[in-house]
Amino acid sequence: MSEPIIIDALIVGGGCAGLFALAAAQRAGMSALLVENNSLGFGQTTSSQGILHAGVKYSLGGLAGDDAKEASEAAHEWIAMLDGGLMNLSNVRVLTRQCYLWRTSGLRGAAGMLGAKLALRTRPESIDESARPAWLAGVSGEVLTLAETVIDPRSLLQELTAPRSHSLLKGRVISVNQCANHVDIEIESSRRVMVRARHLIACAGLGNQDILGLAHVADAPMQQRPLRQAMVRGALPMVFGHCIDGAKTRITVTSDVSTHDARNVVWHVGGQIAEDGPAMHENEFAQYAMDEIKKCIPAQSFTGCHFASYPVMRAEPRTGDGRRPSKTFTHTSGRVTTIWPVKLVMAPMAAAAMMKQLELSPRTTGAHMPWPADLPRPELAARPWESAQWSAIS
Ligand SMILES: Cc1cc2nc3c(=O)[nH]c(=O)nc-3n(C[C@H](O)[C@H](O)[C@H](O)COP(=O)(O)OP(=O)(O)OC[C@H]3O[C@@H](n4cnc5c(N)ncnc54)[C@H](O)[C@@H]3O)c2cc1C
Repeated sequence: MSEPIIIDALIVGGGCAGLFALAAAQRAGMSALLVENNSLGFGQTTSSQGILHAGVKYSLGGLAGDDAKEASEAAHEWIAMLDGGLMNLSNVRVLTRQCYLWRTSGLRGAAGMLGAKLALRTRPESIDESARPAWLAGVSGEVLTLAETVIDPRSLLQELTAPRSHSLLKGRVISVNQCANHVDIEIESSRRVMVRARHLIACAGLGNQDILGLAHVADAPMQQRPLRQAMVRGALPMVFGHCIDGAKTRITVTSDVSTHDARNVVWHVGGQIAEDGPAMHENEFAQYAMDEIKKCIPAQSFTGCHFASYPVMRAEPRTGDGRRPSKTFTHTSGRVTTIWPVKLVMAPMAAAAMMKQLELSPRTTGAHMPWPADLPRPELAARPWESAQWSAIS
């Protein structure tokens, strides 16, 4: 076997958490490399709706909790990056800078009260009936706009990987051996590769469980939350927003132009329906999801449109009650740091927290030491609607 590659940090997993961690480590002058066992962003990042949550969705009870405030602060940092700040993400495709928030029932005032109570940077603004888009006609409850940005997660992956392609390896970690001052990692790729790193950064989403098992790390337990996302494709308007009832988001809709046919728009629909979906058969879910979508957006015709859905698992730090964690998770145990950003919007913050937890003095190998040129690079994962099985909506 060849000599080990000696670096400061090996990052395992190339979703948004791993790619932001790689960028942060290299920016700080550390020699850092990343290994991905499938395709970059496979799992959660390419399934993400790309909403840089302004926190409002998390404060529907009327009060802004820690998670709402954290997301709101993170969203603010993103705006600086998208505008070309310290970390320049100005080439990431911004799909909208404004989302809608609407109620299906006439609970006038409830949403306004929500905005008034929030200690967030972004507050929803009420709009007149005459200013509503056509697809919101026929909604009997209040309609608000929200300065919430939505990005194309795949273009984020492109922007994060393009300057660092030589730092990315397609391979599978097969053993991890933690020592006092370093960690030895064996990787199966087109050949066996040994890495000796001062830090191993576990950013593998669902795969963190296996990596932590190999490293004998027991104090970063994971939970999984299954979702089933709905998608509708056809001659549709670009819709971005959340339909709210009480403290629940009935549906969250984001849109993009279909990759296969630019005349079609794809709605990507999550929210409560996605949480309910895993308990249903696929056909039952199709019926249920379309019923909900039609109730939430009554003015929209779906003639000629197609429906598809797909299951996806959220991988998060374990909470006592199995519910959504309120904060991003970055935890160091010996030589292993585990990151679950919990939300895409939080990934840069999680990377910054990681940097605080690492010993910062870089080795002399330098930040831009690449993987050997003969080793394979991972591809970007496909968007969910590119591989979906579509059925005509009756
Ligand atoms: C349906 C859905 C919608 C969402 N919408 C939003 C949203 O609108 N806004 C928001 O802020 N957040 C959203 N999120 C949350 C957000 O997508 C996730 O928090 C975030 O993408 C997690 O990123 P990650 O890099 O930790 O994990 P992942 O994106 O899952 O990436 C993990 C990577 O590690 C790789 N991997 C796995 N095992 C191994 C291994 N053993 N070795 C090497 N590599 C491995 C995987 O192939 C993958 O590339 C959404 C999540 C889902 C599921």
